[in-house]
Amino acid sequence: MTARLLDGKAVAQQMRAELAAEVAALRGRGVVPGLGVLLVGDNPASRVYVTAKERACGDLGLYSSEVRLPASASRDQILDAVGAFNRDERIHGILVQLPLPDASMEPHVLEAMNPAKDVDGFHPVNVGKAVLGLPAFLPCTPHGILQLLRRSGISIAGAHVVVIGRSRIVGRPLATLLSQKGEGGNATVTLCHTATRDLAAHTRRADIVIAAAGRPDTVRADMIREGAVVVDVGMNRVPDPSAPRGYRLIGDVAFDEVREKAAWITPVPGGVGPMTITMLLFNTVAAARGGPSGSP
Ligand code: NAP
Repeated sequence: MTARLLDGKAVAQQMRAELAAEVAALRGRGVVPGLGVLLVGDNPASRVYVTAKERACGDLGLYSSEVRLPASASRDQILDAVGAFNRDERIHGILVQLPLPDASMEPHVLEAMNPAKDVDGFHPVNVGKAVLGLPAFLPCTPHGILQLLRRSGISIAGAHVVVIGRSRIVGRPLATLLSQKGEGGNATVTLCHTATRDLAAHTRRADIVIAAAGRPDTVRADMIREGAVVVDVGMNRVPDPSAPRGYRLIGDVAFDEVREKAAWITPVPGGVGPMTITMLLFNTVAAARGGPSGSP
């Protein structure tokens, strides 16, 4: 079997077309959805992500405003920038690009954000609401994966899903959303991490494997069953002198061998990545509309 591609680019395009209609309707009422972006330091990967997000905003007709602070910025300077976005009526959503140079500041900075503008879904209020199944801004990568699966016709309800990775931004919220009772959830979830004793024993029993470990070749062909669905969240840079930037991106899944066994697989790039940015746009438009809606 050769897997069909879970085409994040195509699904993201479809969702962005839907959003464009909403943005036009909002603009007709005099509302231009606005995103405030805060970038601290000069981490090259963060700069690439921020540029891609701002370009996507521009393409959709959103307003965006960027504040850049040096890596040496104090906690007060960062909190002031967040406070200014909180007060700015043109800004409906705030994106603080993580990681911050000083990771110990992150909880304070996230908590300083108005939860009604927290379009990344990382504020404790949104995290708590999402766990309780209440309307909340859902974190972009997990929500994007759910949309990608659903819009590709893959049923989650009743499936055994193995998630590899338990980070606050990907694995853990994904496990929460997948296991939620109701539409978009109802999966049986196994959450794996570095203390999992026999990873392959779990993945081999899975209908859907979602890899978010940040380590190439975490999932090999002998670790999945024939006909499984494989979602690769990983984005790992490997040196490649022939590539324009001197590196290329690969996922956590050994793509060439796993695609011969799986029924569906996401490419890297072009799988989860475009969905993540799209869900940021989705949340920003929702914030401009007045807040998040119901379940994923
Ligand atoms: P992270 O914070 O480093 O977390 C990685 C998780 O994977 C941890 O929970 C870790 O376990 C687990 N893990 C690592 N190696 C493992 C192994 N061999 N077996 C089982 N579990 C293992 O990473 P993250 O922020 O979640 O990101 C994960 C990957 O997704 C990265 O490559 C990142 O670049 C990518 N990413 C992509 C997008 C996108 O839009 N495409 C968005 C976000 C992240 P412990 O908890 O035990 O350490």
